[in-house]
Amino acid sequence: MAYSPDDLVPISALQHALFCDRQYALIHMEQLWAENRFTAEGEVLHERVHSEHAESRRSFRQEYGMGVRSLEYGLTGKCDLVEMWLDDNKRVIRAQPVEFKRGHRKINDVDNVQLCAQVICLREMLGIEIPIGQFYYLQEHRRSTVDITQELREKTIGLVKKIHSINASNTTPKAVYDKKKCDSCSLIDLCMPKVSGGKTGVVEKYIQSQLTKADTESEADNAAST
Ligand code: SF4
Repeated sequence: MAYSPDDLVPISALQHALFCDRQYALIHMEQLWAENRFTAEGEVLHERVHSEHAESRRSFRQEYGMGVRSLEYGLTGKCDLVEMWLDDNKRVIRAQPVEFKRGHRKINDVDNVQLCAQVICLREMLGIEIPIGQFYYLQEHRRSTVDITQELREKTIGLVKKIHSINASNTTPKAVYDKKKCDSCSLIDLCMPKVSGGKTGVVEKYIQSQLTKADTESEADNAAST
């Protein structure tokens, strides 16, 4: 089955679904986003890297900010950099995505899964096997290579399928408080995971509270000016 271009999951959402199903749903289904220092720094980095341009030599091409997608798995995103090696007929015979990262290499699979998702898209678009991807860690000023193993591929595809299933259910999963995860989550104040199942209808309640606050301030201003 091929997904419609309207039903593609952004590759950037995989990190949220890997961290917590509810975080994924709050951000991508309820459109809720609470920025913390780490997310803000990440956004700035990717905006800088994704200013699209390409550099090319006869048999080697570098494309920055390259849009990718897989209709087979229902994925879409942008690669920081794709490096491609070409034959004499300008056909791509080898390729690898290179993802730019703030800080040092993480020990979990969050980055690897996103890199693997890029590989899945590129493989479909270019019609070639892509056995590796690379990270460029800014603080270390060096690249590191990741093997796209069958295990990583299965994990990534499983995650993408889980996201499609959450989307199809159109229901935000309930919160399950996990101190290690929740205390570092940028959405904790809005999610309220210690309340049984977490807060439901988070967005509506948040908007309502902001409207009530604005009304109260407006009434106070009117009272002060009369
Ligand atoms: S606070 Fe916890 S349950 Fe809520 S979205 Fe974050 S990680 Fe998930």
